[in-house]
Amino acid sequence: MVLVEDAVIVNTLVRQALTAAQEVMGENGLNAVLRSSNLGRFIGNMPPDDLNPGVKASEYARLNEAIEAFYGRGGRGMLKRIGKASFQYAVREQAALLGIAGVALKVLPQRQRIKFILNSLVNALKKTNPQVNAWVDESEGKIALVEATCAICNGRTSNTPICFLFIGSIAEAVRWATGVDFEIRETHCRAKGDEYCRFEVGEPLA
Ligand SMILES: [Zn+2]
Repeated sequence: MVLVEDAVIVNTLVRQALTAAQEVMGENGLNAVLRSSNLGRFIGNMPPDDLNPGVKASEYARLNEAIEAFYGRGGRGMLKRIGKASFQYAVREQAALLGIAGVALKVLPQRQRIKFILNSLVNALKKTNPQVNAWVDESEGKIALVEATCAICNGRTSNTPICFLFIGSIAEAVRWATGVDFEIRETHCRAKGDEYCRFEVGEPLA
C-alpha cells in the first residue's frame, strides 16, 4: 500500500486538471486558488505534458479542497464542471493514451459502452502511474469505477464523499460513450474512512 505522504500523480493529469480549471474558473480565479492553497508555483507555469510523477497527491487534494472552499456553496458544481472539462481535454489531447482513438462504440449495447469507457479510464490511470490501484466493479448489478488510490481525497477527512472532480470526469466519460447523461454517485470515499472511492453509474438523467 502506498503511504499517503508518498503518493504522487503524473504531470500530464495535473496539467489537464489545471487547464480545465482555468477554462472554467478563468485565469484570475485559478490563480487566486493556487495562491490560497500554497500552490503558487503553478501560476503561469503548468506542469509539463509528460508522465513523470512530478506532483504530490496531497497537493492535488489541496487544490480540490481550495476550489471547493473558494466557491462556497457553488464549489461542488464547479469541481464537477472542471472534471467534465478535464475529460474533454483528455479526449482532445490524449485519445491514444485513453485507448479511444478510432473506436466504434455505436455498434455496442449501452452497458458495454459504459464498461468500455470506465475500463479505458482505469487502464490509462494504471498505465501512467504504477501506484494506482483501480478497477471496474459490477458486483451489485451496477457498473462502478473504484479507486483505492484516489488523489482528490488524499489525506482529507469528511463525513460525506468529496471527490466531485472525479464525478464530473466520469459523468462526461459516460456521456461521451453513450450520448446520454447518467447520474454518477460516489457511494464510498476514502475521506470518510472507506478503503476506496467508488463511483456508481446510476440512472439516465431526464
Ligand atoms: Zn476520493
